[in-house]
Amino acid sequence: MSQPQSIVVPGTHACLRCGETELTRIRMTISGGRPAVFVSCPSCEQTNWFALDGDGSPLPREDVMGPGKQS
Ligand SMILES: [Zn+2]
Repeated sequence: MSQPQSIVVPGTHACLRCGETELTRIRMTISGGRPAVFVSCPSCEQTNWFALDGDGSPLPREDVMGPGKQS
């Protein structure tokens, strides 16, 4: 797909590190069944997760993967 879906989620407009706006955005469900967007920057390879109902701050890895180890 050459036309990325436009997902309006705070924090996902531009890369936090380099400001790139042509980001790869993938909707996914994280730990606890929370809807989120995974954002990957093609320029600097920065990756972050943002909650769909979040405030624009990237989610900490524990929120994405869940506490402790999952099998
Ligand atoms: Zn970047």
